[in-house]
This record gives sequence, C-alpha cells and structure tokens, in this order.
Amino acid sequence: MRHRIHEAQHLVVGRPRRGGAGPANEIFAVRKDWGVGIRVALVYPNRYAAGMSNLGFLLIYARINARPDALCERVFLSGDGRRRAPPRGPGTGSGNPPTEGRTIESGRPLSSFDVVAVSLSYENDLLNVPAILAAGGVPPFREDRAASGRRHPLVVAGGFAASLNPEPAGVFADAVVVGDGERAVDLLLDHGPGPAGDPGYRRELSAIPGVYVPGGYRPEYAESSPTDRASGGLPALRAIEPLPGFPARVAREVLDLRSLSPVPPVILSEETELGSMSLVETSRGCPGMCGFCAAAHACPSFREFPLDRVRAAVDAAWPHRKKVGLIGAAVLDWRPFRELAREILCRGGTVSPASVRADLVDEEIAEILARSGHRTVALAPECGDARLRARVGKRVPDETFFSAAEVLARSGIVSFKLYFLLGLPGVPRKEEVGGIARFLGIFRERVLAVARGVGRMGIVTSVLSPFVPKPFTPLQWASMSPEEELKSREEEVGAAVRAVPNMRVSASTPWDAVVQGYLGLSDRRVAAGLRMARSGKLPRFAPGLAGALASIVFREKGGGEFLPWEVIDGGLRKGALRARYEAFFR
Ligand code: SF4
Repeated sequence: MRHRIHEAQHLVVGRPRRGGAGPANEIFAVRKDWGVGIRVALVYPNRYAAGMSNLGFLLIYARINARPDALCERVFLSGDGRRRAPPRGPGTGSGNPPTEGRTIESGRPLSSFDVVAVSLSYENDLLNVPAILAAGGVPPFREDRAASGRRHPLVVAGGFAASLNPEPAGVFADAVVVGDGERAVDLLLDHGPGPAGDPGYRRELSAIPGVYVPGGYRPEYAESSPTDRASGGLPALRAIEPLPGFPARVAREVLDLRSLSPVPPVILSEETELGSMSLVETSRGCPGMCGFCAAAHACPSFREFPLDRVRAAVDAAWPHRKKVGLIGAAVLDWRPFRELAREILCRGGTVSPASVRADLVDEEIAEILARSGHRTVALAPECGDARLRARVGKRVPDETFFSAAEVLARSGIVSFKLYFLLGLPGVPRKEEVGGIARFLGIFRERVLAVARGVGRMGIVTSVLSPFVPKPFTPLQWASMSPEEELKSREEEVGAAVRAVPNMRVSASTPWDAVVQGYLGLSDRRVAAGLRMARSGKLPRFAPGLAGALASIVFREKGGGEFLPWEVIDGGLRKGALRARYEAFFR
C-alpha cells in the first residue's frame, strides 16, 4: 500500500473502486473553448483513479476553470500506471491513439499549453513526471528546457510533497507553490505565463507570495571529503543562496480559510477510488503535532473551514452523492463535525471522515459511523508501546485505543485497521516489535469480547509503514533504518500475529519507503536519480544511487547542518524542533 502522508492514515475504510482509467460518467467536469485566455494543463503524475480522489487536485482544477480568462484540462499517467510507448504526434496515422502526456479533455499534448501545473502529493509520484512531460513534448528537466533555446510552457509544481521540500520538484518546475495554493495560483495566472529562462520574468514570479523559483537560487556544496570520495557519498550542502533580486527565503503560504472565495463544485467521477462519495474539505493541519507528522508541522496551526461553506459544498453535490467524504488530517477536531454529520444522516445521507482520532471516539461518534454503514475503522496507534508513543509526541495511552475499539464494536463496527510505524530511530527491534505484538494481542481480546456479545466477529489488520523522516518535523534529522532491518521487523510482527485468528498484517515495501525518503529529503542533485527512473521506478543498482542514499537517507544529520528545505520559511523554529529531536533520544 502506498504510504499516505496524512489524509488516509486514519481513514475510515470504505470500499475503493479500482480499475477505471478514464473520465466515464463525470459530473461537474468543464469543457472550455480553446480560444479562452491562458491554457493550463494540470498533471496528476499517477493513475486517473488516484488523481480524481485527490481533493487538492480537484479544487485547483475547479478554481482555474472558474476564471473566465483561463481553461484547465487534466493529464494522468495513462492506463494502469505503467509507462506506455511515447505517443506519436497528430496526423501520424497511429492506429493506437496516444494518451500519455495528453489531456483527457481535448487530447492535446502538454506542449500546446501555456502552463503545465504538476500536482505532487506523494514524493514517489516524482518518478512518473519525466515520462509524462517528455511524452507531452515538454523537456522534463528545467535545465534542458533552458538549454534548448526554445520557448516551452511554464512548468509549475504544487501539492503537499512539493510544498514540503520544493528542491526535488524544482528540477522540473520553473516555479513551486509552497503552502496553500489558492492565492498563489490566482496571482500566477493574473501575471500570465512568460519566458521561464528570462531572469527578469523569474524575479517577477518570485515576488508572488508562496512561490519558490528554483532558478533564482544557487546551491553551495562543501569540498568532497576523502570519505565521500571513497564511499560515493555526496558532498554536504552548505547553503542555497539567492541570486540578486530573489528573496533569501520564501514564506510558506498560510491562508485564513474563512477568507477564501468559494469554488464551484469539484468533479464527481464513478471511476475513482472514492467515487461513491463527494469529497469536502473541513480543515487543514492537526492540533496533534506528532513528532513524525508533516501534515501537522508544515503549518503548525489547525485551521477550520466555516460550517456554512462545508455545508454548501455538500449541498452542491447532494443531487448526485449522498455519501459525504469529509477530508482533513483531523476531521473529528473540526468543531462542527457532529452537527453536520447529524444533519447529513437526517437527510438520508452518510458520512465518511478521512481521519478518526481514538481519543475523540465516543458513543455519538460510533453511532454516526455505524449509521453511515462503516464496518471497519482505521486507528493509528503508531507504536505498540505507550511510552514510545509519547516520546514521538502522541500522548495517547493504550487504554484509549482499546476503549475506543470497544465503543465502536458495541455499535457494530468490529473490524479495524491499525497503523504502526516501523524503524523509529534508535528504537531496538525487540522493543518495537514486542510492543506492537503485545498491543495487538490485547486489542484483539478487547474487541472480541464485545464482538461476541453483538454476535459479529471482525478482522484486525495491522498496517506496517516504515518510518520516513519528513522535512519540518522534529524527526527531520533522523536516519532511516536499513531496508533489511525494516524487512526483519515486518517479518517478526507478521510471525507474531499471522497464526492468530482474526488478525492480518499488511506491510508496505521498504524499498518504496527508502525511495520516498530519497525523493523527499534531497536537494536538486536528485535530478541524477530522476534521470535514471524507468517506468516510474528508481533502478536499485543505478550508478551513484547507493552513495546518494547513504548521504541523504541513511545518515543522521547534524544540528548545524543546512537542510535543503531551509530555503522555505515556515513551521516551527529550527531550535524548537531540534530540542524535541534531542528529547526523543533521552
Ligand atoms: S499530528 Fe498525529 S494525529 Fe495529527 S494528523 Fe499527524 S499523525 Fe495524525
């Protein structure tokens, strides 16, 4: 399973629909005349089904198309996620119409557009970007476009992963939107596309709040040390210096959600993972502040949309969808949750919150979820041991999870997905695995005791995700555990629970997590790896990759070290994060 950064980590589990690859039965899709002002191709570098379940992507599409002077069309990775042969150009007589790098609305290639906007929610999707841009006739790498001497579309990146650390996306993008994208995208379009290679135009872009222009910065590296040369490691990054006229640091955009202008309804499509529901955003950020969580730390303030606005979005989709997916990292913390959920149930609809915090579960929440038809709920203990959980900043005792499960089970919800992190820094294998196994044993017993009473047995599935350090979090300096160690921990948890009735284990691939760390923590030297990506994969034995991984992923960084995302001003102060990091090891 993909490691989701936040939205689905505590997801109330629905029944994803899979297999669709096209825009069948879309509602609220927009088709605009090609002659309209600025033409934007919005790229989601993964499957249609995944992109169309991403609310951020859908909101930007709706927002751009709401402008009378712009049109927005969509591009996805074609088919099932595997790269296809590059498309032939128009009029080549191909009997097999090309789709890669072309919009699903008009079938035009990316090169026909003024702006190519890439939505990056997940680091690993970066690996699909070169093939999509190339297939659409746009040289993927910023440097190559500049060297071509030709004019190309302005390439802009945004989305959660790009926004956390804009340097990796900056190898493709002329500009990266950092933080809330609404105002920055509007201002970019107001300004209009221009020659990305022109220093004057780049400076103008960099004056837009929340826009990082990577071409306006020069990285400085330390001399390569003998150790680096012997191991193939990368010299340390010393600084990312602004060129004249560019700001020293770019402030992350943090908008007042109450002031955002409403957007038209987002597209509803049956061919998506969450196709049976309308998706509506309730809030951004989380008051929880767990030490590994970028969703909480990127912008450490919990911001809520007003109830009226959320209700209006529910109403807009109501004639077509009566199942409402409420989206946010902390939906139960959104204060009007219960009021709106009751309203929706009274009107004959159902509610599916994207996240459920165990410490907020009570009889009313359980009833809302049960009446909405949920039979499985996901909770995120993260660690099996309460002391370790508290050390990573999640001060929720074991008993809270057990009690929440009992409350839910009494209302008929007897299956659970439990999310755990594996390979937390400095935590011995025995402690981590033993804690998870103990926790699961008690959890199962407590649920089964209630389930027997209600006459329905369920399944407890442990979802194991390797710990990956994230920028702007207290654990950003940590080293990742080696792949073999992660595999061993997974196997030991599996061995402890597989033979137990009603228990399952689901684990993500350690290599995918390593790649996630590499793509999320790198500076622009990640271009070397991305140039070697094939079919959305990073070849494990690519030249130079082992040294890069040793420098970026499998190394604890020093407190005084310059980190690539320090070019962004946002989140908690570095000193405060470092104090929490050091406290983790005490
Ligand atoms: S801070 Fe903790 S509770 Fe909040 S979204 Fe992140 S992991 Fe979940």
